[in-house]
Amino acid sequence: MSLSTLHEHLAARLGPKGWSTDPEVLAPMLAEWRGRWHGTTPFLAMPATTAEAQAVVQLCAAAGAAITPQGGNTGLVGGQIPDGEILVSLKRMNRIRSIDPIDDALTAEAGAVLAAVQDAAAGADRLFPLSLGSQGSATIGGLISTNAGGVHVVRYGMMRDLVLGLEVVLPSGEIWNGLKALRKDNTGYDLKQMFIGAEGTLGLVTAATLKLFPRPSEHVVAMAGFMDAERWLDLLHLIKSRTGALAAFEVMNRLSVDLAVAHIEGVRDPFMLAPSWVALIECESAGGGHGLESAVEEALAEALEAGIIVDAAVARSEAQAAAYWRLRESIPAAHKRTGRPQMSFDIATPVSAAPRFVAIADAATAALLPGARSVAFGHAGDGNIHYTVMAPAETSPEAFAAALPAIVAAVQGEAMNLNGSISAEHGVGVARRDELPAYKSPIALAMMKTVKAALDPQRIMNPRAMLQP
Ligand SMILES: Cc1cc2nc3c(=O)[nH]c(=O)nc-3n(C[C@H](O)[C@H](O)[C@H](O)COP(=O)(O)OP(=O)(O)OC[C@H]3O[C@@H](n4cnc5c(N)ncnc54)[C@H](O)[C@@H]3O)c2cc1C
Repeated sequence: MSLSTLHEHLAARLGPKGWSTDPEVLAPMLAEWRGRWHGTTPFLAMPATTAEAQAVVQLCAAAGAAITPQGGNTGLVGGQIPDGEILVSLKRMNRIRSIDPIDDALTAEAGAVLAAVQDAAAGADRLFPLSLGSQGSATIGGLISTNAGGVHVVRYGMMRDLVLGLEVVLPSGEIWNGLKALRKDNTGYDLKQMFIGAEGTLGLVTAATLKLFPRPSEHVVAMAGFMDAERWLDLLHLIKSRTGALAAFEVMNRLSVDLAVAHIEGVRDPFMLAPSWVALIECESAGGGHGLESAVEEALAEALEAGIIVDAAVARSEAQAAAYWRLRESIPAAHKRTGRPQMSFDIATPVSAAPRFVAIADAATAALLPGARSVAFGHAGDGNIHYTVMAPAETSPEAFAAALPAIVAAVQGEAMNLNGSISAEHGVGVARRDELPAYKSPIALAMMKTVKAALDPQRIMNPRAMLQP
């Protein structure tokens, strides 16, 4: 089938609202939000139903035409931006199909935005706990395909832990309906897990059944300052054991806080002492009235007395809690506004090794680029540090580019030495694809390629993402 015949068949099957080649419609879908990737596509398909999504894959498979799936286009590794492939946007498939508060399960289509799913769960007096900065745009299909993490992983796990069932259009054009709300099902391989974190390389996710939880009635948000990164491990375990209710444990180094205060309007440092590290702590409980706030205060007092922390503050209102979160959430925008040459990493280590990672990486980068400093912050409760190397002000982009290969090797090498990962939650996409062979064992890569070849022998599903041809 020629490409023009394919486009005619796709247009006929999808109807006038289901496709476009208009450059104005395509433009926002072809640009990654930070401007790192710009793509091209001959045809945008926007199926509104699973049957239409199936028809798109069947027609593309028959024509041997490759597909790039896209949800909210908030991905950070470029896997959603096509480079000549047919772009399949799932945004029109955005219905909440069902909510069952007895099964604590919600079934949503792939294009449903995370904030809408959170709202639907809240409407049934339940919680869908995934929470991240892009929740107003990121879709369930994209969050599943990148196995998104966010700030509540320490309590509820990653997307992988929140999915009960999936509906997927396979590269063959067949539909796998695995939309069961089962908590237990040991009838063989857990097939849904193959598609979670697969970045669209194994099929089009069209719907998911998600786990719901009791809605917390008590929320406590606090901040603590300490001088030594190793101390955050003591604080983490103290809060966990004293409250049994830890929902988020984020850390920020001094430079992260200073940049957020300097560059983002209305952001304030809660501490006069300018501690080297600040932790943001969120605890929550569904019980209500059992003194969670007192438990957090007592734990922080104990930490102060034991010399683990040097200062602490508990939010006394929703507005104060929001201000604490705003400090944390402003950091990515703040360090970009410096305009300095910089390189960001999304590192995971065992929780216990994260402070050591920061210390070793800081020393290594300062040796390679004198005057370089790090913006280090993130989900310390999960051992996930977002680590950005910032060049000194006088460094030219050329000098930074020359130093970069050694910096990348040093930072990622240290993560691997600590038994960590070079991509904690953002994925591989096209950004890290060519580095993967250096960091995955040959046997792990071979298994990944075997799965890809078995499910997608024509290599039509997101062929440039994750795995080299
Ligand atoms: C401000 C901001 C904060 C963020 N914070 C976090 C964070 O804390 N934790 C975190 O993990 N991530 C974070 N992210 C990253 C991002 O939000 C996630 O990667 C998100 O899961 C992507 O969802 P999306 O719908 O935008 O997918 P897209 O960006 O459109 O696509 C992402 C990948 O999934 C594939 N895909 C999309 N939909 C489907 C589908 N239906 N079937 C098959 N494949 C599909 C695409 O091909 C691509 O490879 C953040 C991003 C931003 C912009």
